[in-house]
Amino acid sequence: PAVPAGYGLETVVRHTYERTRTDTSGALADYIPELALVDPDRFGIAAVSVEGEVVSVGDADVAFTIQSISKAFAFCLALEVAGREKVLSRVGVEPSGDAFNAIVFDAETNRPFNPMVNAGAITVSGLLVEHLGADALDFVLDRFSAAAGRRLVVDEAVFRSEAETAHRNRGIAHLLTSAGALTAGVDATLDLYFRQCSILVTAGDLARMGATLANIGENPLTGTTAFAVDAVRSTLAVMFTCGMYNFAGNWAFDVGVPAKSGVGGGILGVVNRQLGIATYSPRLDGRGNSVRGIAAFRELAEELGLHLFDPT
Ligand code: GLN
Repeated sequence: PAVPAGYGLETVVRHTYERTRTDTSGALADYIPELALVDPDRFGIAAVSVEGEVVSVGDADVAFTIQSISKAFAFCLALEVAGREKVLSRVGVEPSGDAFNAIVFDAETNRPFNPMVNAGAITVSGLLVEHLGADALDFVLDRFSAAAGRRLVVDEAVFRSEAETAHRNRGIAHLLTSAGALTAGVDATLDLYFRQCSILVTAGDLARMGATLANIGENPLTGTTAFAVDAVRSTLAVMFTCGMYNFAGNWAFDVGVPAKSGVGGGILGVVNRQLGIATYSPRLDGRGNSVRGIAAFRELAEELGLHLFDPT
């Protein structure tokens, strides 16, 4: 069981929060100028079980941009909309071992390594644009909102800030187009990608979205279906192997649950068929992962016995 007998989920989350909150190492992301303006001290943890238990501590209701955590959900939607075969013809499912913004493709296939790094995620956004055209953003917002259980919106200031400064992502999108992985046009694709990354969420929202994945696509609090069952399985598999970029191996070793981080400071972890857990703390390490988020997940995994390969 996720929660050992006699120990409430709430108690463990509170202890974890208290034990990890004093760590102020790391730095805000500043390559997107607007991200450098957030309060660096914010720290929140939220957890939602598939039975509907909700726990939230600290700044779990403070909104921040979802950033790369959107990549997991967008991949899930692309599998549903474009079909597995087409998606896999454009993007691989192999960990890259590279930074999230690396300009490198799989030499064998000339495709991005996986949908959790920028190159692969931009490819996925391209597939959504290719299949849904101008409706792609509304579709993404509708499904993300269904998973969160409330209406989500885009932070326009962060969107503009990223769009104006995204020379690297623009370069990646052009290379993807020349490689044949992206066919929906650089501008329309990046417009969706930057907006999808700029969706405002709280740790509470992310925990509900994670619980929706844990509950094979159905939001356990509202009963609404947000994602297709087959797509959820594939998404969790890729989150497990690639969700933490070039820290994915360490994460699988220590924490042992599918997860996804974003440079906005969020980390989402999914305990299959049990829990969605989310942390928000915007100071990042050198790989772009939240410092206190990693510390909290390590502790939670230990205390709650979350690791996939725990013997009990
Ligand atoms: N929007 C960000 C980017 O493309 C997302 C990166 C991240 O969260 N790792 O650079």
